[in-house]
This record gives sequence, C-alpha cells and structure tokens, in this order.
Amino acid sequence: MLTIKVGRRRIKPLNWLIFLSFVALIVYVFFSLIFLLPLFNKEYSYNIDKDNYHLSVKTKFKHAWFNCHTTEVYKIKSDDKLIVKTLGNQLISDGFKENNKNNYVRKSSEFGLCSDNYKRYKKTRKKGYIKFSLRGKSSQIIEYEKEYKDPYVNAKINNTNVKRVDVVSTLNEKQIGKYITSYTINVNKMHKEYLFRIIKIVDTKKPEIKIVGNNVIEIDYGSKYVEPGFEASDNYDGDITNKIKIKNTINNKKAGTYNISYSVCDTSNNCTSAKRQVVVKEKTKEVIVHEPKIEVKNGLTYVDGVLLVNKKYGVPKTYDPGVNEEALKKVKEMQKDAEVLGLSLPIVSSYRSYKTQEKLHASYAKRDGEEKASTYSALAGHSEHQTGLAFDLGSTDSSFQYTKEAKWLAENAHLYGFIIRYPKDKTDITGYVYEAWHVRYLGKDLAYKVWQSGLTLEEYLGVN
Ligand SMILES: [Zn+2]
Repeated sequence: MLTIKVGRRRIKPLNWLIFLSFVALIVYVFFSLIFLLPLFNKEYSYNIDKDNYHLSVKTKFKHAWFNCHTTEVYKIKSDDKLIVKTLGNQLISDGFKENNKNNYVRKSSEFGLCSDNYKRYKKTRKKGYIKFSLRGKSSQIIEYEKEYKDPYVNAKINNTNVKRVDVVSTLNEKQIGKYITSYTINVNKMHKEYLFRIIKIVDTKKPEIKIVGNNVIEIDYGSKYVEPGFEASDNYDGDITNKIKIKNTINNKKAGTYNISYSVCDTSNNCTSAKRQVVVKEKTKEVIVHEPKIEVKNGLTYVDGVLLVNKKYGVPKTYDPGVNEEALKKVKEMQKDAEVLGLSLPIVSSYRSYKTQEKLHASYAKRDGEEKASTYSALAGHSEHQTGLAFDLGSTDSSFQYTKEAKWLAENAHLYGFIIRYPKDKTDITGYVYEAWHVRYLGKDLAYKVWQSGLTLEEYLGVN
C-alpha cells in the first residue's frame, strides 16, 4: 500500500485526502469573504465645465480586493436642447441608460486587483494632461450657400496629439436652421471628453422682385388698369411670386399719378419692395370712357356679368339659393391643402338667409349700436352670405388676421377662385372693416385678376 513519508512520519492516503480537502475549504472561505465583502464604499462628484454646457458626474465605487463595482451618474445641464440631446445620445451609445430627465447611469464591475477609478481619472484630469479645445468660435453663423469648413479642434493627451477624434455633425447646408457638431476623444477606457459647436445656417439675402412691363404706365381717364404682371424669387425659397402683396390706390376717375407697391418677404423675413407708377390722364372729349355694364336681373345686380352685393346693391328678400355647390367644393379643396401644412380653416359661416341675416344684424345693432354694427355686419338683403358664394373661414375674431391661417388664405385663396372681399385699408371703398376670414367665390380666372390688380372687387369692376 502506498504511503507518503513526511519526515519520520508516514501518512496514509486517506488522511492526506482529508488534509487537502480541509486546505481547499479554508482557501475557498477566505476568498469568498474577500469577493463578497465590500471593504470600501466611496462616492465622488465632480464637474466638467464647457463653454455652454455642464456635465456633473457622480461616481460611486464599491471596492473589494478582487471585485469592484462602479456606478456613474451623469447629469447634463445646458441652455441648448441640441447639446443635451446630442450629449445624451453619446452617453447612451457608451452604454449609459437614461434614468430620468438628463440623468444617465452606467454600472460596471471589474474583477482583479482594482484600483480607484476616480484617482486614475483625476490623474488624467490634472492640469495640462488633457488639452482639448475648439478651434474657432463655439457658435458659428454661416450665410446660406456660403461654403463652410469645420475649424476642428486641438486635442492632446500628455503632450501627444490625439490620433482619433470622432466628429459627428447634424449639419445640412441645404437647409437654414441650427445644427450641432460634436467632437469626442477617448481619455482612457472609462472616460471620454466631449466638445460641441453650434452652427447656424442663415439666409439674410433679400428676395428680388421683377416687374413685367414699364415702370410708368399711362391709362386713359376712366379706363381699367390692367396689371402687366410681376415675379419674385429668392435665393432660398425660389419662386415666391404668390407671396407678393400689392397696394394699389388708383382712382381712374381722377387724373393724377398713383403708385402701385409690390412687397414680398422670404421665410427668413428678408423683405423687399418695388414700385410702379400709373398716370391717369386728364379727361378729354376724345376719350371714350369704359363704363361698366350694370344689369339687373330678378332683382340681382350684375356688373360686367359679375354678381355684386354690397351696401349699394342688394338682393331680394326672397332670394334663397342656398350654399353654392361649386364654391363649397373649392372651399373643401382649399381646406384639404391647408391641412397638409398644419393649418385649420373651418367654415364658421356660409350661406345665410335673409331672415338669419336680419336677426344677426339686429343683435349686433342692439349690442354695439347701428352705426358701429354696420361696419362689420350687413343689413338684411345686403349680405354677400345670402348669395351662397361667401364664406367665413377660420375665425371671425379680429385677432384672426395675425394667424398663419389668415396669412396663407390671403396668399392662396385666389388659386381656388376666392378673394379676400374686405381687404385691409380699403374700408372707405368696401364700407367694411378688414375681414381676413371673409372670402367670396369668383372662379379661378377672375379671382386671379382681382388679386393681381391689388384692388377691391368694386374698384376692379369700376363701380367704386
Ligand atoms: Zn362674412
């Protein structure tokens, strides 16, 4: 039988086995204790300040000799949402989890003889060890269409140039807006440094207006001014002819020189304007004045074939056509297109019978007095709503004129056959205050001509 000699003693194999098992148990218990016991528990906070953001890091270490746990919590504070978002995304890509608003957490554990991560990090943070800064301004404003070259960064760790700087940018030079570029370097396995630059692409270039035809146009006394046309283009928006606003003060019944002004603004609110002069000649015997053809059929007044309802020309009490189907179809088409742009233009009012108008006007007159009520509400029999061709869209509150909806309506209604019937600064002609919501259906061709002339329907028809 095999025996082992230790000194002068002989030990039997069975005893030997028991002895080794005992030693293994001791070793196991000893190491288990070390593995499990958290001998150190430290918490550190420190701040990293950059130009316009601020990272505060809270780190918790749980140390044993062989088993370390680290929890890092980053809190991002910045005036700029883009930076918070970008930095947040960077942290997530580094294995952080978003805990709550602007709070990012990463847990890691290391096995072996752990050193204090914070001390290691602090060493790398010591003055001059990391040199990481932006070249050029941290916020750059670039004119649209101008070439932009990233000024890059200075990056040195321990006086050695950093070979790899990760540059990520949201920049789209084709679109005006605010963008961000981030620069990241790896300091060590655990730590990165970030820098950010804001880039704004702006358009400060004014659009251009081109006037078709002569700058000075002479017309005969009493004859209709026909607009020869105009175009507007912008370096960023392209063709913006349909955004041109025209102001026309021509009175063809009074000789004199009148100005037509054309103005337009691009999406960045760069505005430009142009002018044309219209000279209304003196009345001479030779001039045959074009007098508009006014016909009355069944109590309805047509001027050159256009049904006209205003304070002077009314409709019979019995006239009851209901809403005009063609006009309603066009309103719906217009609403659909506006909706695509996020604009809401509900019909507030459309066809109104004589009776309805009578009651409505009486209630306004009771509230505000007849004189004031007549500046915004028609007498029964004189409301355009009774023709079924007029609609109030959006809201009939005077604040409606300042909305995006009103702006869009003024610029686009003619494309669907409508005009803004009571425009701004034309109260002396229409008799009504500016109603940005009230549109009248004329059909596409005529609506375009009236819109292009910059005149009210009365002026355009020559019955003012
Ligand atoms: Zn109305």
